[in-house]
Amino acid sequence: MLFHSTRGKDKDKTFQEVLMQGLASDGGLFMPNYWPVVDLEHLKNCNTFIDVAKHIVPLFTDSSFNRNDVEDMLDNTWHDFAEKNLIKIFEINETTSVLELFHGPTAAFKDFGLQLAAAFFNKTLETENKTAIVFGATSGDTGSAAIDACKQFKSIKSFILIPEGNMSEIQRKQMTTVDKSNVFPILADATFDDCQDIVKEGFKQRSFLKNDQYLLAVNSINWVRIIGQICYYFYAALKFNKLSQPLNFSVPTGNFGNVFACYSASKMGLPLSKIIVAVNSNDILYRFFKENDYSKRDVTETISPSMDISVASNFERLLYDFYLDRNSKVCSDIYSNFPKTAININEDVWQKSDELFLSHSVDDNTTYATMKYFKNEFNYIIDPHTAVAAEAVLKLNHTLSDKTLILSTAHPAKFPDALKKSNILMEDMPKRLTDVINKKEIAKKISTSDNSIYEYIRSNN
Ligand SMILES: *Cc1c(COP(=O)(O)O)cnc(C)c1O
Repeated sequence: MLFHSTRGKDKDKTFQEVLMQGLASDGGLFMPNYWPVVDLEHLKNCNTFIDVAKHIVPLFTDSSFNRNDVEDMLDNTWHDFAEKNLIKIFEINETTSVLELFHGPTAAFKDFGLQLAAAFFNKTLETENKTAIVFGATSGDTGSAAIDACKQFKSIKSFILIPEGNMSEIQRKQMTTVDKSNVFPILADATFDDCQDIVKEGFKQRSFLKNDQYLLAVNSINWVRIIGQICYYFYAALKFNKLSQPLNFSVPTGNFGNVFACYSASKMGLPLSKIIVAVNSNDILYRFFKENDYSKRDVTETISPSMDISVASNFERLLYDFYLDRNSKVCSDIYSNFPKTAININEDVWQKSDELFLSHSVDDNTTYATMKYFKNEFNYIIDPHTAVAAEAVLKLNHTLSDKTLILSTAHPAKFPDALKKSNILMEDMPKRLTDVINKKEIAKKISTSDNSIYEYIRSNN
């Protein structure tokens, strides 16, 4: 299996090239050259998440790693989960259940993608005898999942920019209390968007790198993260109904990575009914599915901060594969004018959306109300991101056939302020989160007005 860019320039790249490069050289996103098909009959004999992953992951990695090595690696890839089988399904009622993806060490679903990324980074660095710098900015959960996934590997140093903004205290402390010599959390006096610009500039400059050192991105456009997420869609369907009936998935989304993983799974044979694209007030995706208007607007801060985006990077993959039938010329033209020119696609083509997608946008007040409703009605506590997906199901349920899984992307205990505002008392906080609260924070504070950040990385490299 080889990969190419949605914008057509990079072609026939191996998995390892795509892994270590992240973004394609033409600014596009990497896609597999074809959709590998999963043998569902074979999958039905699997018991564990790891068994399922051993079927899925090698389909994408055979250009760089032999199957046995990958299978051995997968036995040790997902670590420190509170659930033996990594995920749990909680039944709400006859038609609706919640897919709990937050049992990993950082209590958000990002552990699935980033632990797989870190394992493959390390495997590559070991064989090439090289080291790497991970450099990224985070609005909440990416940073902690990246730090946690990479901290055990001596060949990787992580530098994560933490913006001023509305991430929760627990989210911040998950990064600043790690206390490992290869982990560098950086408190920046800047917004998330500014931090992302600083990271982008760093990837251009590369001035702080040693010879022969990789600079790695951990944002959600790296294909390896999508692979990790495809695995739990198959595993969930296997656990839920032995892959016998199509399901709806309601996905709380920002950068569209999690939705695209669901779409990918369906292309690979997962029985799927509808994907519900659930967003907060940052509604660029909702506007696209509702009225064919994909136009960039300013970011609004919400109580689901991990979905506060102005554009949804992974949407380019869907546009390319689903709407444009993999026409990279058209895709490249569209994106060379975006965001200056909004994306409005051919109306006939846009109608295809109805085959697969529904969308809903949820404001903060409704999010609080949904958290309260789930506690009162089902005695089940959900976090604000999950509540956005849950509310979308409540709103759209009358249009759905088949059963629905709501993706729960974060543990509610990560957002104590939102719980408090919804009058929800959480009695059993997971120990790994309460521990974090009481630890001492160690982080470098850096002014973003000059280049001192790159100097800081160089001096600690
Ligand atoms: C990152 C994140 C999301 C959004 O995921 P995308 O793949 O960017 O759509 C949703 N919920 C939580 C808790 C997150 O951390």
